[in-house]
Amino acid sequence: MTHPQVDLAELELSELEAALEARAVERFHARQLYRWIYRHGVTDIDRMSDLGRTLRETLKSEFVIGMPCTVGDERSIDGTRKLLLELADGKRIEAVFIPDTPATAPRYTFCISTQVGCAMSCGFCLTGKMGLVRNLTAGEIAGQVRVLAAATGLLDYPFNIVLMGMGEPLHNYDQTMKALRMLHSEHGLAVSPRRVTLSTVGIVPGLERLAREPLMPNLAISLHATTDEQRTALVPPNRKYPLAAILEVCRRFPLKKRSRITFEYVLLDGVNDTPEDARRLVKLLADVKAKVNLIPLNPAPGIPFERPSDERVDRFAQILADRHITVSVRKSRGRDIRAACGQLIVEGGTKKSAAQQMALLMR
Ligand code: SAH
Repeated sequence: MTHPQVDLAELELSELEAALEARAVERFHARQLYRWIYRHGVTDIDRMSDLGRTLRETLKSEFVIGMPCTVGDERSIDGTRKLLLELADGKRIEAVFIPDTPATAPRYTFCISTQVGCAMSCGFCLTGKMGLVRNLTAGEIAGQVRVLAAATGLLDYPFNIVLMGMGEPLHNYDQTMKALRMLHSEHGLAVSPRRVTLSTVGIVPGLERLAREPLMPNLAISLHATTDEQRTALVPPNRKYPLAAILEVCRRFPLKKRSRITFEYVLLDGVNDTPEDARRLVKLLADVKAKVNLIPLNPAPGIPFERPSDERVDRFAQILADRHITVSVRKSRGRDIRAACGQLIVEGGTKKSAAQQMALLMR
């Protein structure tokens, strides 16, 4: 009797061990497979040279190893690289490589997606215009890291991961956390959770679950406004999970020593970037272990907001700094290839949003 082949890229190490055992294959081979898939970026079982021939034949008849297929690779003048990846069902997502080369050691960041599209519909974000097409599987989420690490020659080099591509990670909680466990395995890429940042609009039940995770990434909250009225207008999930509820979970969130929650704040010219906004933000964060990352808007056609001047950005930042809040201004990377925050959008959304997208692209 034939049965569908199992995709090894969708399995955590413990699941892979169980899958091997169920097929009378010794479980220690799972570690070898993990090493090939994650550390060497190999998907062809025949290339796994430390597995015997008979074993390889057995594995080939039972398993496949999925990998997102790179169908586009754009490079920005600043070194940022945006990969367009096609999944098994033809859906497409984007994943971004962001190199940073300060005088000290270079730092590399992979920005990956957790969903095709996004259901949050934040007013300033292009991905939000697509609507949600579907959740990514854990294998597809971790697969972006496998592809990026191989494409950039970083399979053996420490890199950071930010879950800041397309999608809302806490809206696809189980697959996102499973992907992080897969990436964390010491037999694979051994990514430390300290190198991972999960960015969310603040879905309260998801935050409460996250607070109990054994494998805890750094947390970033997309705040963007200081009153519920304004935040609901910009970030619609705020209607259900208002500021007070989010900040309450943040106050109780179990943080490691010296670590803090990052609050992201998109600056929209004349909308949420006034000195009053800055002072309200200081008050809101008064008893939270917080740092603030200001993101001057990356404008796009169809987005009804403007990027504030550098002076306005500096003035906002200064008010926070004067009140002893650690504040940074996010450099926009890869804007020339539409790889910056909120600029990730691909074809293949819902019918309605496809039409919307066309309208956006034609302008
Ligand atoms: N859904 C998650 C992660 C995706 S976006 C979240 O909302 O946190 C990562 C960050 O980019 C978020 O803070 C998001 O609000 C911000 N962003 C979205 N559109 C943007 C734009 N046009 N310009 C600047 N930042 C944007």
